[in-house]
Amino acid sequence: MFLICLCVLETQPINPIHGISTGVQPGPGGTTLNYGASTGLSGVLFQAFIILHELGHLTDAYGATNDDSSNTATGKANQIANNTVVLKDCFNKNFNPNP
Ligand SMILES: [Zn+2]
Repeated sequence: MFLICLCVLETQPINPIHGISTGVQPGPGGTTLNYGASTGLSGVLFQAFIILHELGHLTDAYGATNDDSSNTATGKANQIANNTVVLKDCFNKNFNPNP
């Protein structure tokens, strides 16, 4: 099975080759985006978080906040809500949208 992450995590789509494997990828203007920083996870735990987040979409577990695909205030708020649910329920950790 090949999983492609269609979500916008933070402000940039996660790179399915590099970002999902490390949680870190190059960002705009020479910056580095560390997706793991918001979750406090790294390595295989971060990879599991991504897959569980996507599984939440596939099973419609998020309900009204399911659409987190846009880089708008609503999309970002939905993404934070969805990430919060996955991180709390699956890892017993709090999501930090502004690490
Ligand atoms: Zn999502």
